[in-house]
Amino acid sequence: ETLDKGLEKSKSSFFSKMSKAVAGKSRVDDEVLDDLEDVLVSSDVGVATTIKIINRIEDRVARDKYMGTDELNKILREEIAGLLSETNSGEAAEIQIPNTATPHVIMVVGVNGVGKTTTIGKLAHQFKNSGKNVILGAADTFRAAAIDQLQIWAERTDVPIVKQSMGSDPASVAFDTVQSAVKQKADVVLIDTAGRLHNKINLMKELTKVKRVMQKVIPDAPHEVLLVLDGSTGQNAFEQAKQFTAATEVTSLAVTKLDGTAKGGVVIGISDQFQIPVKYIGVGEGVEDLQVFNKYEFVDSFFK
Ligand code: GDP
Repeated sequence: ETLDKGLEKSKSSFFSKMSKAVAGKSRVDDEVLDDLEDVLVSSDVGVATTIKIINRIEDRVARDKYMGTDELNKILREEIAGLLSETNSGEAAEIQIPNTATPHVIMVVGVNGVGKTTTIGKLAHQFKNSGKNVILGAADTFRAAAIDQLQIWAERTDVPIVKQSMGSDPASVAFDTVQSAVKQKADVVLIDTAGRLHNKINLMKELTKVKRVMQKVIPDAPHEVLLVLDGSTGQNAFEQAKQFTAATEVTSLAVTKLDGTAKGGVVIGISDQFQIPVKYIGVGEGVEDLQVFNKYEFVDSFFK
């Protein structure tokens, strides 16, 4: 219900465009497929994934000889759910915190402004509500505002935070955080990192160093690298995914701001192109506005 509300913009726009594409048509022909292609591309599904979807539908049209436009919704839905299933197996995708003595370390990456800090705050809230001890590490030391923002979220969610002054070494903050997590027997560690993309080599070096230093305390850390992308930025989100996956191994995605965009298709395209599961979607600014990604609900919210 909240998902539907959060995704209203994506849904209504995709749907109205779809209806226009099939208006006055009784069967799926080349023109309908061309229009559908436009709808998918303009919904930010991305060209490569759009072509994949169109090809699959063309195959089905060729096989079945005749396809009514009323069947198109159903088939499109199946194909999109099928694509998402390739990277998002299972019903719900949330990050699982194992019941071990070692804290589960989640390193959160993404460029400034995408909603990284907000997502960390929302995650801290969710993990805490499920009975986990959470600790935050303010390793984005390049902006004072980043440290302050994370501090605000720590207070709001009532979880401890490890920080140093602005300009200090991010790896040193990360080290302190995991060390203190082990000492406090924390279950989950959320490490914020700096999201400067202007220098790819530096980004890679920095993330590698943060990882290496954490591994001195917990050899298999980080257990999860969560890339946060702003779902309203379309092609920029694709570009960021490209750069971050080149800089470090990304294990999961959170796509934010899907409440404010008519372009939720980015979720489908990025998940398909990078073969990384989408685990969370952000649908607002509040602490509760982070949803565990459910591919069936997501697809349904487009086609209901
Ligand atoms: P960071 O620089 O990546 O850490 O970004 P912030 O977490 O500070 O978020 C930047 C802005 O986006 C803030 O105003 C947030 O309230 C807002 N924001 C974050 N996530 C969402 C979301 O899912 N929906 C909406 N509407 N706003 C969001």
